[in-house]
Amino acid sequence: MGKRTYGKEYGFQTRAVHTGNDVDGETGAIKRPITVGNSYELPYDPSDLNWSSAGKSLYTRNGGSNQKYLQEKLASLENGEDCVVLASGVAALSGLFFALLKSGDHVIFSSVTYIAVYRLFNELLNNKFNIETTIVDTTDPGNVKKAIKPNTKLIHIETPGNPTLMISDIAEIAKIAHKNNALLSVDNTFASPFNQRPIDIGADFVIESLTKYINGHGDALGGAIIGKTEYLDIIRQQSQINLGGIISPFNAWLIMRGSVTLPLRMRQHNQNAQQVAEYLEKLDCVRFVAYPGLASHKGHAAAKKQMVPGFGGVLSFGLKADHDTHNRFVSYLKVITSAVSLGHDESLIVFLGENDERQYLYPEEFHGGFFRFSVGIEDIEDIIGDIEQALEKTGLL
Ligand SMILES: *Cc1c(COP(=O)(O)O)cnc(C)c1O
Repeated sequence: MGKRTYGKEYGFQTRAVHTGNDVDGETGAIKRPITVGNSYELPYDPSDLNWSSAGKSLYTRNGGSNQKYLQEKLASLENGEDCVVLASGVAALSGLFFALLKSGDHVIFSSVTYIAVYRLFNELLNNKFNIETTIVDTTDPGNVKKAIKPNTKLIHIETPGNPTLMISDIAEIAKIAHKNNALLSVDNTFASPFNQRPIDIGADFVIESLTKYINGHGDALGGAIIGKTEYLDIIRQQSQINLGGIISPFNAWLIMRGSVTLPLRMRQHNQNAQQVAEYLEKLDCVRFVAYPGLASHKGHAAAKKQMVPGFGGVLSFGLKADHDTHNRFVSYLKVITSAVSLGHDESLIVFLGENDERQYLYPEEFHGGFFRFSVGIEDIEDIIGDIEQALEKTGLL
């Protein structure tokens, strides 16, 4: 790494701008280039090379330069020792689980997680690989303690949880994990490292879907695992090299570029989501609002402890209205787009109907159908104005 590497002595914003970037040695350009060539020149005698090595420049699936630059930045922003970037957030999650777990191990995971985590633990890893799994309401660390078994290897939590925004206390759950020789992984996608740094408060691993806030522009997929090299080397071998979950150089470059403005965007997301949540909470036609920044949120105290500058850009809410009125409301929106994903520059909303198979794991108020709303960085007057005019058209305002 060259002279312009920025270490921990610099602030978060300085590292978001500079870490992982350097002057290009060949052209003198002040931004490193995208390297799309997928193969590298071999030494005079290649016969004793290990073709599965992640250490040498050999072939892009063994490690690409744009991937490595991004890994350097993300390890720094999360205050972790090392990072592996893969093709998507789900590749990062499965990469961690496959690296750590073997048949006979037990896993505890949050009752509200990204759907693929539920599939992996509730269908694939348990049925196919004989891994014991327990779904726990981790909003109460006492429930985690009760679920521990002698073979518990991993506790995986998502906080805030997608889509209910439930909050789990990272520091408390880390203590329980470590007292029982288990490891703790935290899906930090909703908060991003700007708002929450789980490794600082005891987590062993952080997962980020880079697709969301870290890229922030809705134009690339990627995922990262941050943690200790001794574990991450296993993920490089398995999920990157032998299972093929490598990120493309172009996506790594896009995410590197997007991540430069993460602190600026997050400040605006935090501020806009707080204002939208407060606005919605005052309306008679709103059935409930779930946002960790509201004093009325069940997890507000825990969130205040571990989400320092703010509470992120995602909230959920429901209307005092039937199924079709929820859909009509969305159809009247002009600024806010109906689409999945979150953490983009633009506001995105998705209606999650009443027949979600995991509904039984959600709090009561979520049973009537609800919206997950990823509040963008547009002018707050335009976001609230859009909601207002759409509610008026439904006849609810
Ligand atoms: C989107 C998301 C993921 C999955 O990320 P992909 O990049 O879509 O694979 C994982 N966890 C959370 C909390 C997410 O929101």
